[in-house]
Amino acid sequence: MEYRSQIMSLGYSNYYQSTYLIPDLCPRCNRSNNPITKLIGSKEYSNGRVCFLVHHCSSCNLDHYSLQLISPDRSGEETKLWALHPSNNLKDFSENLLKFSPRFVDLYHQAETAENAGNFDLAGMGYRAAEEVLIKDFALAFSGESKEKIANLKLNDAISHYFKDDEASLISTDVVRINGNDFTHWNRPEGFDLKAQLEQIKQYLDIYIARVNYQLMIENPPVTRNKSHDSKSNK
Ligand SMILES: [Zn+2]
Repeated sequence: MEYRSQIMSLGYSNYYQSTYLIPDLCPRCNRSNNPITKLIGSKEYSNGRVCFLVHHCSSCNLDHYSLQLISPDRSGEETKLWALHPSNNLKDFSENLLKFSPRFVDLYHQAETAENAGNFDLAGMGYRAAEEVLIKDFALAFSGESKEKIANLKLNDAISHYFKDDEASLISTDVVRINGNDFTHWNRPEGFDLKAQLEQIKQYLDIYIARVNYQLMIENPPVTRNKSHDSKSNK
């Protein structure tokens, strides 16, 4: 994550030109960050003032928060950002997966960004859509079937068709599909817990992502067996 510094007066003597840090991108909406920052509270220590700041993003109208150690004016010490909430660390994907399905990674990150901003319904739809893209990219690469046939399969049919002999993929993708449907459909179960269901969707989607990574690693090994060498050493 990249940060940049801003200057404000904290209103204490020796703290009239204080430098504080903000993330370049808002951790809730992932857009360029130009927040209005206010000091909520602070406490003086021998090495500076620990400040609790609230940053109001004008793009999404939501707050993010930080805890920073700010040194007195002219001390020459740099400000230290101790904590930021929410942190906008988006999920890391393997190089193989990034190359194999950039659209899946993009959709997944969009869903995460929606989730961080509190847009849980959009997030649930997004994770489900991301899964469909990954299943179909995988089918196009490994099933030998035509793009037209793959494109016309509904998610439900694609799962039962491609994973009939692969129980881990079948179960994990079905959990994401069925839970994801609750975010899309008008009618949904009573006492629906959006956050808990999102966690479950991500956990099961992780299983399928690991399954795809496994296949990609086997298809693109970093070393190959040297057949002539092996045959010599076997003699
Ligand atoms: Zn924002």
